[in-house]
Amino acid sequence: MIIQPPQNIQPLDAILPEEPLLMMGAGPVPIPPRVAAANSIVINHLGDTMAVIIDQVKIMSRYVFQTQADHILGVAGPGSAAMEMAVANMVEPGSKVLSICNGFFSSRLAEMATRLEAKVVKLEIKEKEAADPQLVEQAIIQHKPKVLTIVQGETSSTVWNCHLKTIAGIAKKHHCFVIVDAVCTLSTMPLEMENWDVDVIITGGQKGLSSIPGVSLVAFSDAAWDHVNNRRDVLRHWCLDAKLADQFWYQKAYHYTAPVSGILAIHEALRLICIETLPLRFARHLRSSLALQKGLEIMGLSLYVEESSRLNSVVGINLPKGVEAKKLLAYMSKHYRVEISGAFGANIVRIGQMGEQCRSHHIFRTLHALGASLKMFAVDVDMPAGVSALEHSLETFTYTKTMTSACQEAQLAEL
Ligand SMILES: *Cc1c(COP(=O)(O)O)cnc(C)c1O
Repeated sequence: MIIQPPQNIQPLDAILPEEPLLMMGAGPVPIPPRVAAANSIVINHLGDTMAVIIDQVKIMSRYVFQTQADHILGVAGPGSAAMEMAVANMVEPGSKVLSICNGFFSSRLAEMATRLEAKVVKLEIKEKEAADPQLVEQAIIQHKPKVLTIVQGETSSTVWNCHLKTIAGIAKKHHCFVIVDAVCTLSTMPLEMENWDVDVIITGGQKGLSSIPGVSLVAFSDAAWDHVNNRRDVLRHWCLDAKLADQFWYQKAYHYTAPVSGILAIHEALRLICIETLPLRFARHLRSSLALQKGLEIMGLSLYVEESSRLNSVVGINLPKGVEAKKLLAYMSKHYRVEISGAFGANIVRIGQMGEQCRSHHIFRTLHALGASLKMFAVDVDMPAGVSALEHSLETFTYTKTMTSACQEAQLAEL
């Protein structure tokens, strides 16, 4: 049978909204015009121009990851591909892995290690809480893992593992490699790969970095790279084999055709971070997220996680009684052109504060859109008070005044 061309396919213009939706959910996030422009270019993946770009991506990544180690690899794929690359290269079949689980994404790391036939111990952390370093140390002593996996910011439950630095130090003391998932947090809050003794950090494009989805980065420490290099077994993942990827990223040779446009986009995203500088970028994120949180609370809503372990990069809001998340989000999108996220499990909606989402005009618009939509669902919210609180918080933001919890002070000390 000859298959005929399909009829009634609409051009993109007819499908996409005339006015782009403001993407204020848990990712993908809006991208700067320079990133968008870079993403429209295709060049030779093995040419001289690409070599310059790859060199710069590695140099800028070392700044963003805060590492001097020169083992930065890009991967064509989502954040999950970077997670799998980290796990596949660090975890040998049959070896012990301790996975700190605060929700959906941290559990995905455990699932990946399990599929690689590691002996995985999951340390399930209490809902809404950050992992306790003492409990982690007990688990390390009891199980003697070779690799520990942990997420810095658990996007699904909006929990921040605020003791990450301490936990990484403990793991190092017990000769255990640490893999950190920083997909939603890298460049939004302090994470110092070298100073904190982290062995592998993963990030995606479409969250903290404010680039496009589909190209991700993995950074290995010198010790982690030695481990990867010294493995004698053949990796089960061909595309994700770090030693093969090293051929492209360090030896200008062919592994697979690199996602050139996406790499150009991430180059621009990293360059914008280098121009802004990390301390100022962290401050922008904190100022924006704290102001949004204040506005939401004064408007009459409650936040899902307590301040001490609350993730600033993605804010979880308890859904008022009787409101269905799906209907609320659809209404907000249709009438205000603002998209936020629902959740897996918990009865919350989530607003992202990553990269371009942390601009004052975006958070005012989002707070208004959410408040006005909730009113349509008969929820009693005080919009003027919320907007005013948001404004006041933005205006009065200083580190010393707004940093109240111990965790936030620790964050400040890192600046
Ligand atoms: C989004 C996310 C991932 C997965 O990224 P994908 O690009 O969807 O594969 C992993 N970890 C965290 C913390 C995330 O927020």
